[in-house]
Amino acid sequence: MIQRTLPTCQELDWQDELRQLITTPEALFERLCLPSRYLDQAHKAHALFPVRTTLSFINAMQKGDINDPLLKQVLPLGEELIQKKGFTDTPLEEDSFNTIPGIIHKYHGRVLLIAATQCAINCRYCFRRNFDYTANTLSKAQWQDIFNYINSDSSIEEVIFSGGDPLAMPDAPFAWAVTELEKIPHITRLRIHSRIPIVLPSRITKTLCHTLRNSRFDVAMVIHSNHAQEITPTVIEALNKLTSANIVLLNQSVLLKGINDNAATLTALSKALFSAGVMPYYLHLLDKVNGASHFDINKTQAKQLITALTESLSGYLVPKLVQEIPHAKSKTPIR
Ligand code: SF4
Repeated sequence: MIQRTLPTCQELDWQDELRQLITTPEALFERLCLPSRYLDQAHKAHALFPVRTTLSFINAMQKGDINDPLLKQVLPLGEELIQKKGFTDTPLEEDSFNTIPGIIHKYHGRVLLIAATQCAINCRYCFRRNFDYTANTLSKAQWQDIFNYINSDSSIEEVIFSGGDPLAMPDAPFAWAVTELEKIPHITRLRIHSRIPIVLPSRITKTLCHTLRNSRFDVAMVIHSNHAQEITPTVIEALNKLTSANIVLLNQSVLLKGINDNAATLTALSKALFSAGVMPYYLHLLDKVNGASHFDINKTQAKQLITALTESLSGYLVPKLVQEIPHAKSKTPIR
């Protein structure tokens, strides 16, 4: 049986685990003992949206449950083929803000840096699924262009490491990028947007924490969790390492039909995050990317959910409901 021959994620370091991602429907079905009658449709959808997930994320799923809320985020089952009006390949029109390779400069005072072009998992709702990562894969010279770009604009105070997933970068180049940015006097804050603490917690190494703790920047990490089931003991351990390194932890979630579109699930998520030292920050309406329309929740339902959360939770546990509108000057709050 494959479960006996493959190592568990506890036996792998993070780079080994990245090299041993599950990337076929068969492997996922076998690991999770899923009903084989769904395999054919998974295959068809996999051609459009490839399966890619970590052993750590799989370990947080329920075996045998095709409706597991974590599995549904990574296993395409045919809905990817649905075409719906209003959905496009590039809903946020990020190309128009991709000022130089590796930089998305959209909002005042901060830039987003595509520090890595890979993710540890493929999320079925990802708005960046059609992003031109090839054009944003950086050579050493292009990294220098980025530092020059940021250095030449003193209105930029904050750099946001994004991707892909920026924590897919190994420790040494990550530390180098932080050190180079520290030479730019007007940068005071570093923000890291990453799903890796949730799906590959072994990535939170001592070296990474040392780099961030010793940086002159104020550091925030915005993790990405959609369901309390993702907050496993191993994830909590990784998050504790980050808080011990004085990193402010925030979470953003995407509101996803069939996964977290009810008040009980969102309440459990907020409580689990807070217990792990993470403040609920944003709850995003789905970005209308082709292939993800089956996850869409309309604004009225979303507002009802936030009302229910507000009535049952302390205010600081209620994430801000927001939507990203191309060319708006910030995320747009939904009230
Ligand atoms: S981790 Fe983030 S960037 Fe990567 S596929 Fe998921 S949503 Fe997209």
